[in-house]
Amino acid sequence: MTITEPNKSWERLDHGSRGVTVLGSTGSIGINTLDVLARHPDRYRIVALTANTQVDRLFDQCQRFLPQKAVMLDSRAAARLKEKIRNQKLDIDVLSGADGLNAVATHPRSHIVVAAIVGAAGLLPTLNAVRAGKRVLLANKESLVVSGHVFIEEAQRCGAELLPVDSEHNAIFQCMPDGFSAGTAAPSVRRIFLTCSGGPFRGSSQESLVSVTPEQACAHPNWVMGRKISVDSATLMNKGLELIEACWLFGVSPDQIEIIIHPQSVIHSLVEYIDGSVLAQLGNPDMRTPIAHALAWPERIESGVKSLNLLEVARLDFESPDLTRFPCLRLAYDAARGGGTMPAILNAANEVAVQAFLDRRIGFTDIPLVIEHVLSEIPASHDNRLEVVLSDDMRARDVAVNFIASRERRVSQGAT
Ligand code: NAD
Ligand code: MG
Repeated sequence: MTITEPNKSWERLDHGSRGVTVLGSTGSIGINTLDVLARHPDRYRIVALTANTQVDRLFDQCQRFLPQKAVMLDSRAAARLKEKIRNQKLDIDVLSGADGLNAVATHPRSHIVVAAIVGAAGLLPTLNAVRAGKRVLLANKESLVVSGHVFIEEAQRCGAELLPVDSEHNAIFQCMPDGFSAGTAAPSVRRIFLTCSGGPFRGSSQESLVSVTPEQACAHPNWVMGRKISVDSATLMNKGLELIEACWLFGVSPDQIEIIIHPQSVIHSLVEYIDGSVLAQLGNPDMRTPIAHALAWPERIESGVKSLNLLEVARLDFESPDLTRFPCLRLAYDAARGGGTMPAILNAANEVAVQAFLDRRIGFTDIPLVIEHVLSEIPASHDNRLEVVLSDDMRARDVAVNFIASRERRVSQGAT
């Protein structure tokens, strides 16, 4: 779905269309978002696109969607993009760095901000979009995990609409009672079932997990995603982060959420009401459905997703997750119940461990060991202020980095 063809029909028309900023437009969610937006040029207008370092991909997107602004976090990448845009005589303003991201996240002409940066790096621009009262389409689950308290409070204070794009949370949102808004508990809801595909290693033995490679971990059976979330899906940390995300979005406690392994990924989650009714949202596993839903809510728009063929699906299976083979999920439950800055510490340690695994510095089964070590070293604070959360995030990253380095030293000494 890489976009290369310039689209002459995409014009900067302002007549009643809604302005959209896509933070992280070159990633998996970003590309899916642009695919949906391209189906509705009369309804949406792109104000800004952003990326970390992928100059060529952002340039292709600029040619096709003619945003007013393009931002690259990396300043050298921004300089290269600027040159390409000048050579092509495009009227697009190129910005860089955190200031550039914040400028487009709060731009007065953006009504909708799609938060699709990966990791805690997405937190501040997303929070700034919330503070500017935007409709925020939240894919970046890490920002809620790290500072859910601040996000929900600020969304309510500033009148922002926080709409989940994570497929499970979008499904839950669709099953919530009329009038529901993020962060408030619905008294008629008893429980939430959060579904989980089980990832690529659902049937693997504990011993075989030791030798898993990054390529194997990134080969998800049902979804094509960025590398970080693919590894999280393989360790089941993704479901752990989603548990914490769901607690914030739907105002429930971790014990009101049951995680169910559902390998077909057709039921995207379920909500149980106090009268015993259980509502579910179903569909093909394609992120364009939740993206289209959140873009147009409360209306519905075409997304390009093909119809669900239930006869082809034929059966729907359910099982419990195995917390022994997948300790990341157990650690996330502990963090969800512990509260305070514990989820931020868990998330930061996980980000460092996943990157080290992708860089082949640690093994797959070392990921939970790193996280457990960091959680045991840093006592969680129950001060919810953003500066406290961010300081614990930084400490957790330092402890994780040092732990991985000391393990590497031990391994290399053992080898000589
Ligand atoms: P990805 O790695 O494919 O893309 C990430 C995007 O963020 C890219 O545009 C990249 O340039 C940008 N980026 C990376 N680091 C950055 C930084 N430090 N500063 C600014 N920009 C940066 O990731 P993805 O799979 O699209 O996931 C994005 C977010 O959406 C994640 O939080 C993920 O958990 C969530 N999510 C993804 C999916 C999915 O299907 N991919 C589903 C649900 C939720
Ligand atoms: Mg999900």
